Amino acid sequence: MFELFLTEAQKKLQQEVRDFVKSVPRQLIIDMDAEKVEFPYEFVREAGRRNLLGLRVPNQHGGRGLKWVDEMIALMEIGKLGLPFNCLYDLTAIVTDALNIFGTEAQKDKYIRPLVEGRQWAGEALTEPRGGSDFFGATTRARKEGRYYILNGQKRFTVGAEGADFFLVYATTKPEARSRGLSCFIVEKDMGVEVKHIYGLMGSRGTGTGRLLFRNVQVPEENLLGEENKGSQVFYRMMVPERFQCGYIGRARSILEIAARYANKRKAFGQTIRNFEAVSFKIADSITKIDAVTAYAYTVARILDEGVTGTGYQRRLISQLKKLSSEMLWEVVNNAMQILGGIGYTNVFPVERALREARLPLIWTGTSEIQNLVIQHEYYKELLDNGVEGRNFEGDVPLAEAELEEEKVYESELI
Ligand SMILES: Cc1cc2nc3c(=O)[nH]c(=O)nc-3n(C[C@H](O)[C@H](O)[C@H](O)COP(=O)(O)OP(=O)(O)OC[C@H]3O[C@@H](n4cnc5c(N)ncnc54)[C@H](O)[C@@H]3O)c2cc1C
Repeated sequence: MFELFLTEAQKKLQQEVRDFVKSVPRQLIIDMDAEKVEFPYEFVREAGRRNLLGLRVPNQHGGRGLKWVDEMIALMEIGKLGLPFNCLYDLTAIVTDALNIFGTEAQKDKYIRPLVEGRQWAGEALTEPRGGSDFFGATTRARKEGRYYILNGQKRFTVGAEGADFFLVYATTKPEARSRGLSCFIVEKDMGVEVKHIYGLMGSRGTGTGRLLFRNVQVPEENLLGEENKGSQVFYRMMVPERFQCGYIGRARSILEIAARYANKRKAFGQTIRNFEAVSFKIADSITKIDAVTAYAYTVARILDEGVTGTGYQRRLISQLKKLSSEMLWEVVNNAMQILGGIGYTNVFPVERALREARLPLIWTGTSEIQNLVIQHEYYKELLDNGVEGRNFEGDVPLAEAELEEEKVYESELI
């Protein structure tokens, strides 16, 4: 659909990513799901070798200097492989974006190129055992001592706890402040980060997701990313690529294809099951939603590329994209399993793996409830700050009623 608008260069990029996706060994996918692989180094290395990581990174740091639409194209293709691949691919985009925007020249030189080339890999450590939704309540502390920050605390569910060379870690540098004065640090694993537990996951396995312990970890002051106590700026920016979830759209598309092909061949009551409305309407609903979210994602990507709006509005659009794509993926995969019947519940088709994976997007990178908090907050701000634009539809009632101010009661009055 949006393909109709792509330039020749974008079509070429899409083909390049498709070729890469085709080259990923089936055995790797199976072994990751079977938890035989803790972290798929070869996937990251090969993506880097093909210069497909961190597409928006400027040329001088090894990237291609491309745009959000290009990243969307790549994510939609990589996403078809499944959630763990989408996540690992995305993380390089998230971390390099933060380094590129907030990093010093020395930090950019040291950390971006190895990531883009797939020689290193980085994770992000935001969530703590005490909770992920209340990000600003972080209790991991960083105390300045001479030329170092001394880091103490824990982070939970960090993808790449096993596998990453360094992490972007948020810690409070001013615990007495209302927003806790968070700061963001580049913390190399070799600085003394301990991996305490690797979680057994329902799906999206093989990404080394674990709990990190920081016990008096000495982080050189030059590894502060952005300004001290202003980690919130890094966080808000990181949430843009983090919630720019186009990979889910690709995944939904690949699973729908499996279901539609199955419905076209499978027979019951003497006819192919696609002839039953209950089946073919599920296909219709699924493709309609996939295309709608695709069109929405393309619009958001274009808006980010043009930089035409305020950050609050962008935050709402991005949260809506994350929520829409997560909910759509869950619904499409669930529909697919229903269409496949019993065999869908077995590992003869990859739909059961996709279903296990598809539960996660509703939870991570901010739950759907947290996206709703952001969406309504930004919407109220836009609505109430701007007043009524154009026609005031509230007045479309008989004139006498429109003027009945005493009937427009918004709170009870004590008589
Ligand atoms: C496989 C996996 C990988 C992950 N990878 C990473 C990673 O790489 N880095 C990282 O930092 N984190 C990662 N996470 C953490 C993830 O982002 C958090 O799990 C998520 O943000 C929710 O936090 P929580 O689990 O602590 O739930 P809680 O914050 O305890 O929330 C529990 C429930 O309460 C609801 N809730 C909480 N507050 C509110 C509110 N104000 N209004 C309405 N409802 C509310 C939530 O929506 C949720 O339903 C990962 C998680 C998983 C499972």
